[in-house]
Amino acid sequence: MKALAVDLGGSHAACALVADREIVAVETVPLESARGLGGALPSIAAALERAASGVGVPVTACAGLAFGFCGLVDSDAGRVLSTNAKYDDAPGLDLPAWCRESLGLPLRIENDARLALLGERHAGAARGTDDAVMMTLGTGIGGVAMIGGRLLRGRHFQAGVLGGHLVADFEGRPCTCGGVGCVEAEASTWALPGLCREAPGFAASALARRERLDFEGLFDCAAEGDAVAVAVRDRCLGVWAAGAVAMVHAWDPEVLLVGGGVMRSAAAVLPAIEARVHRHAWTPWGKVSVRAAALGERAALLGAVPLLQGA
Ligand SMILES: [Zn+2]
Repeated sequence: MKALAVDLGGSHAACALVADREIVAVETVPLESARGLGGALPSIAAALERAASGVGVPVTACAGLAFGFCGLVDSDAGRVLSTNAKYDDAPGLDLPAWCRESLGLPLRIENDARLALLGERHAGAARGTDDAVMMTLGTGIGGVAMIGGRLLRGRHFQAGVLGGHLVADFEGRPCTCGGVGCVEAEASTWALPGLCREAPGFAASALARRERLDFEGLFDCAAEGDAVAVAVRDRCLGVWAAGAVAMVHAWDPEVLLVGGGVMRSAAAVLPAIEARVHRHAWTPWGKVSVRAAALGERAALLGAVPLLQGA
């Protein structure tokens, strides 16, 4: 099956032609999420046309468009339900009508993290399992679940996509979601500069001399023995592991995938999460397989075919 796919990120949209487990062509459209989605739809449609025609495939040969959106979506009605400071005009858009009129194709929309897990199950590190959880460590923290081969969606389409907003510290830091002490508020790329600056001894630490406070820099400073970096790193690993154990307890997976930009430092992250999941999760049937996600930014695009097939 051939399909068109859009993965909408904060600063760009990846627009692709996909054939089963392969991305055949991809065009990237730079976007500013603060300016909304509606005005960008014509350039997204044009990029999809270019991706298909560039490899000699008519758009009409595609089964549909799978659209990954960074927010809460009603995948039955094809509507965005709620955004978090990105593309805030999206709930007012009729995306299926836009797709029908501009490309002549049916559209299915899904939360981008759910779509990425579908992709990993179709073509990546979760192949062969029906029960998987994916945790994404990056600017925010994602946590999505598939149970018995079905994406967990729930009554209001928010089941299983708010894993990053499980609470790691009920007296903790304020989160963008309105909560307090969420995994994301306690250990994500957006939270990291605050975490470092508030750490005792920060001013005298190697971290204070870095231009940017990101996880690669934190892991570098920790590996060189900087005590403040070690303390912040170990707290973040503990927060991620607590989130992972909570997701295992909530959703009963066989496989826990860990992805996202922080996994550029996988050697510092994955064994620590795996060890704590194996030590602390109550799984009398055996051990959850903790794996690195395999597809990176391609995962959501590769979820297109299973989404259009009705996953
Ligand atoms: Zn939160």
